[in-house]
Amino acid sequence: MANRKLYRILKKIKQEQPAVRALSDEELSGKTGEFRMRIAQGASADSLLPEAFAVVCEADRRILGMEPYDCQILGGVALHYGYLAEMNTGEGKTLTATLPLYLNALTGKSTILVTANDYLAERDAKEMGPVYEFLGITVRSGVRQEEEGKTHNAWKRQIYNADIVYTTHSTLGFDYLMNNLVSSAEDRFMREFYYVIIDEADMVLMDAATMPLVISGAPRVQSNLYEIADFFVTTLQEDRDYIKEENSVWLTDEGVAYAERYFRINGFYEAENFELNRHVTLALKAHFTMERNKDYVVTEKGEISLLDNSTGRVLPGMKLRGGIHQALETKEKVQVTQENRSVASITYQNLFLLFPRMSGMSGTIADAKRELRKIYKKKVAVIPPHKPLQRVDQKDLFFKTAEQQYEEAVREVLERHETGQPVLVMTSTIADTQLVSHALIEKQVPHSVLNANNAYWEAQIIKEAGQKGIVTVSTGMAGRGTDIRLGDGVAELGGLAVIGIGRMGNIRVERQARGRAGRQGDPGCSQFFVSLEDDAVSAVGEKVLERYVDKDRRISKGHLRRLINGTQKVQEERSAAGRQSTVDYDKVLKRQRTMMYDVRNRLLDGGSLEQQLILQLAWEGVERFLKEHPHPAAGEINRYMLDNLSYRLDNRFLNARHMKKKMLKKKIRFYVETVWKRKTELFSSEEELREYIRLCSLRAIDNAWVEQVDYLQQLQYVVSGLAAAQRNPVFEYHREAYDSFIRMENVIKKDIVRNVFLGQKSYGKAGEMQVLFP
Ligand code: ADP
Repeated sequence: MANRKLYRILKKIKQEQPAVRALSDEELSGKTGEFRMRIAQGASADSLLPEAFAVVCEADRRILGMEPYDCQILGGVALHYGYLAEMNTGEGKTLTATLPLYLNALTGKSTILVTANDYLAERDAKEMGPVYEFLGITVRSGVRQEEEGKTHNAWKRQIYNADIVYTTHSTLGFDYLMNNLVSSAEDRFMREFYYVIIDEADMVLMDAATMPLVISGAPRVQSNLYEIADFFVTTLQEDRDYIKEENSVWLTDEGVAYAERYFRINGFYEAENFELNRHVTLALKAHFTMERNKDYVVTEKGEISLLDNSTGRVLPGMKLRGGIHQALETKEKVQVTQENRSVASITYQNLFLLFPRMSGMSGTIADAKRELRKIYKKKVAVIPPHKPLQRVDQKDLFFKTAEQQYEEAVREVLERHETGQPVLVMTSTIADTQLVSHALIEKQVPHSVLNANNAYWEAQIIKEAGQKGIVTVSTGMAGRGTDIRLGDGVAELGGLAVIGIGRMGNIRVERQARGRAGRQGDPGCSQFFVSLEDDAVSAVGEKVLERYVDKDRRISKGHLRRLINGTQKVQEERSAAGRQSTVDYDKVLKRQRTMMYDVRNRLLDGGSLEQQLILQLAWEGVERFLKEHPHPAAGEINRYMLDNLSYRLDNRFLNARHMKKKMLKKKIRFYVETVWKRKTELFSSEEELREYIRLCSLRAIDNAWVEQVDYLQQLQYVVSGLAAAQRNPVFEYHREAYDSFIRMENVIKKDIVRNVFLGQKSYGKAGEMQVLFP
């Protein structure tokens, strides 16, 4: 329930309303300037809330013809205070968001609303636009195509400089990564994150939370290991060679021994077999944890497209990290695409944790309360509906076999359809929509099918779904963020009927499905038909299936119910554990990313390294070299100098081998200092040299960091196979990730020295300094 504090604030807003209503249009829109002034003078956004909310309510009424209901105001307050607000579909979340967005935009800091797809971002920015415009607040859609004649970054900057931005989670994520890849301060386009509202927050923060957004760069050398590994895993036997548990699979000791014999190698987990190990792990995943038409589809063009398994939607352009995509392509025997290095990556989880003020809304978020609190430290506020819910949710019906389940479900659809009531059949997979569709065709019932293969028609199909006599068959995707209105005369027939087939992966998906019916106090009903053969059930308990389904064994209704309900819990716990382990893995990348971006930003902003430090780093390099080569030959020293410090060769070290260590060091030191002096003399001013060092350092950091991101991604795959070696994968990952970070730091130091000593400066057209790197 929404707490008392929220109601108290609601009361204050209501008290402000009469005075605000009495204002002329001009006075009303003039309020924005006044609020901004007060904030400039030190007033907090919280202190302005009652009056500011009253102003937006009045503007919404005058400009859009809609005045936010009390429940919406309550929701708005919750969003301002960083709650995750549970509000049903159709309650008017779009209007609700105008209240906190306006208030937070007054601070002059970045204020963003994240929607589930491009269409909604565009639509909401456009529909709410006039209110903001009236109030003197700029708003932009972040997903709009670029205008001609503008550079990409200039275009993006214009978007992010708006007071309020409506965008999608993926656009925001990619923009964030791009913004941290720019090579000069002027190219940055994003303001520092401040306030965000996430629409359909449970989907973004839970279901898609662990999905990494990856920016790819230069292609990796294509390996033929995919095919070799692919064939290898088809020769394995479950339980003997590998163990499979929900979303993970690993080789047993026996499997490892077999792999070593098969590939004729020693030590499958040794560093020298890193690549082979990685490919085998990928092939195992592709074969045993990913299912065609459930996790991905193969398009007519022979491309693999991933499916979002909670909604059945195709995720366009989304590639799995670290080569799993290629492993799937090999498994499906389609053209293997180029595997690119990942240059930058972030999960949604970490993206949204970057916001100092984050809030969200969804029709189904209370069910995930505990986990959201644990991972995001966020509380849920359940906002009551404007009109009481009339929908009747029937108790689930349980069946032993899929055959009985489908027969009954289709009978129910027919019965309702004959009265003219619109029916929406929801299934969890594409394959199931096809089954239902066939059954309906047999009974000669016309219907539309909505699944990942025809999402293009979504808006049209949804629009018709509430009309008399319409039957729609859909995967879980229908309606996230769009609501189904009832046609004329449909309310009298009982409103929309939702028939759910099959246990879904988690309770939120089922509640989303039921929520398609009964919007804003409409009549409606929902009923689920579940069986022991549902994917969600069989994924957990194949043993159970063997015992009951195949044989003619009797099973009591109560037992059946307990079995099926139990499996959903197990599934949810597993998903939660999966998300937790991503959090654990990701902590490392997050910490390293934060450090690197900090250093990078300082350099971008004009910070540079002191000359003294460069000399010191150069000397550290020499010392490392001398440690590795205690008695270097003249040739070795010269090689080192050529590679790191100077293109000009000096044969001063001819008798290095016979020189005393101390003497040699002194000589080298003198030499390094001379080289450095020669270098610095090429610059006309201290400033110029500083700029040169800055560019050289930036380049060194970027190169090394790109490698590191890529390495950490691959590492995750490799360690996930370690469960067999009786080692804790997360622990091993953290250790190796730490070690690799230290190694990276050394590489950076070495490269800074190399770039500074061996780089050549020149000047671009605009007179800006450029460096030709060694
Ligand atoms: P949600 O995102 O919560 O599913 P929407 O924001 O799409 O809901 O709004 C659903 C419909 O309700 C929209 O057509 C909107 O115009 C209407 N609506 C929302 N709030 C109000 C209001 N206070 N008064 C009148 N109509 C409203």
